[in-house]
Amino acid sequence: MWKEKNQNRKGKIHELSITEEILRICLEEANRAGAKRIIKIKLKIGEITNIVPECVSFYFNILSKGSIAGNAKLDIEKIPIRGKCKNCRREFFVEDFAFVCPECMSREVEMISGRELTIDFMEVQ
Ligand SMILES: [Zn+2]
Repeated sequence: MWKEKNQNRKGKIHELSITEEILRICLEEANRAGAKRIIKIKLKIGEITNIVPECVSFYFNILSKGSIAGNAKLDIEKIPIRGKCKNCRREFFVEDFAFVCPECMSREVEMISGRELTIDFMEVQ
């Protein structure tokens, strides 16, 4: 019980600091571009990062208040985990974190997507 609670709290701090960092980068970029307002921010979040998009949106709304990103629309795309077999070269979606090739059952799998945490684009005014 205690452990579960503690993990939840840790999870939230994780998303909070990531959201702070995203907002900081966006405001910096917008300032540099001389923007008056940030309209939209598109994020790409890989599945393996364990970041909960709803948490990021929640924190973003709180943290951006009063800034030029205050009414920005946050669009988050979750990127699924894709693997590539080093043995037979087949590419496939990794489900339930099972890094096993469905073709030849090899465990020599390279991760080709799912790790991203990027600001894809930003719309400013
Ligand atoms: Zn294979």
